[in-house]
Amino acid sequence: MTYEVVIGLEVHAQLLTQSKMFCACGTKFGLPANSQTCPICLGMPGTLPVINKKAVEMAVRTGLALQCRIGEQNRFARKNYFYPDLPKGYQISQYEAPICEHGAVEVEVGPAKKPVRIRRAHLEEDAGKNIHEAGANGSRVDLNRAGTPLLEIVTEPDMRSADEVVAYLKMLREILMYLEVCDGNMEEGSLRCEPNLSLRPVGQKEFGTKVELKNINSFKFVKEAIEYEIKRQTKVLNEGGKIAQETRLWDSDKGETATMRSKEEAHDYRYFPDPDLVPLSLAPEWIDDLRKTLPELPAVRQRRFVGEYGLPEYDAGVLTGSKALADYFEACVRLFPQPKTVSNWVMGELLRELNQAGLSAAASPVGPERLVSLLQLVEKGTISLKVAREIFPELYASGKAPEEIVKAKGLTQVSDEGSLGKIIDEVIAKNPTQVEQYRGGKEAVLGFLVGQVMKSSGGKANPGKVNELLKKKLGGLG
Ligand code: ADP
Ligand code: MG
Ligand code: ZN
Repeated sequence: MTYEVVIGLEVHAQLLTQSKMFCACGTKFGLPANSQTCPICLGMPGTLPVINKKAVEMAVRTGLALQCRIGEQNRFARKNYFYPDLPKGYQISQYEAPICEHGAVEVEVGPAKKPVRIRRAHLEEDAGKNIHEAGANGSRVDLNRAGTPLLEIVTEPDMRSADEVVAYLKMLREILMYLEVCDGNMEEGSLRCEPNLSLRPVGQKEFGTKVELKNINSFKFVKEAIEYEIKRQTKVLNEGGKIAQETRLWDSDKGETATMRSKEEAHDYRYFPDPDLVPLSLAPEWIDDLRKTLPELPAVRQRRFVGEYGLPEYDAGVLTGSKALADYFEACVRLFPQPKTVSNWVMGELLRELNQAGLSAAASPVGPERLVSLLQLVEKGTISLKVAREIFPELYASGKAPEEIVKAKGLTQVSDEGSLGKIIDEVIAKNPTQVEQYRGGKEAVLGFLVGQVMKSSGGKANPGKVNELLKKKLGGLG
């Protein structure tokens, strides 16, 4: 039997607010345990939550960018469960009236484009962290993260392969980062993704029983976990078994998923409106104002890069892959208006170094001015393209100006007729046979002679000039 895979995603994005969702505590990562807490996020009796306006604003901006309908009447609900990292015994979330609904993200899979529908996105608070140290006498609880604002973004079950999921997740992450509402860091857990996955026989309309996957903290693991789970479920079904509806944990060391718990139902959580929070109404004018100040989003910027700069789709896609890189590219083009040349350098030499160092373009040790001054040296003929490529790693590593490196290494391109003329005369004298052939009409031999001149100049001769001078000295074709 052949099966089709059906996948829907739940993504939790930590919002980049200064303070928590319902109290004034800070949200910085990596501070001493429990130093970012107060009676509200510790769940002390008698304390009252107050909604963080910035978090609401970020949720609305994200909803607008995801083409959602924004709910003007918002309710917060208590989701009740017990766990040591949840001191109140409930999480404040949204259930019946989420802040965003019915959106879509256009996803590119190979040459095809496909919409993935957003079912809803709602605001909630994060839990703390339980710390289990090897050899420790018991476990500890750090509540610094408790109460950090989260936006949970849920898709319809629209994806049909691991590649589609990765493409959706990349696009969603780009959008969140363009909006500056989330730092997108999957390793640190600021962006967490939980795929829901089921199989059905090809041609069948009803969905199969789904499994929810957790503990996936990189794009690589998203793909591996989904592919593992497809194989596992296929095997179960082919052996006549049934898929248990459950939550499974990805184990990246073993490359496997394993049962964590059987899936709970919504009614297990006893959702009810939080009596401590009045309904939140959003003014339509405020939503409109936020709509007007949305930045240019990745897909739109990509289209503009094709139209305005005449770049290939591919280049435009890579360059708009992050806001920092797209900004870097545009800063260069303002100083050096040759978009395709700039694109080649940014996508080639620069990205190679940045990726190796795991750096964003915003943190590049070679800024746009530096890169442009290198391009200008090539443009003016001071150095050859080959030399420019060769010195780029040094430019990147040393922080020196390109002029300085060129001077120190004596790499200046030789273009003056005097010095070139001498080398050319020598080459002509040493290669009488080829010179004869050229004069006899064998034009292709010119390339060989140019090569000889380049070689004896140590690669520094200006090839255009060499061509021109050689032709002049050899005279017309016989
Ligand atoms: P739950 O109540 O278990 O959380 P939901 O209906 O809220 O389930 O859906 C959670 C996620 O699972 C959504 O992203 C949805 O698109 C996806 N989903 C729902 N049913 C299926 C299915 N049969 N196969 C794959 N994904 C599904
Ligand atoms: Mg759910
Ligand atoms: Zn607090």
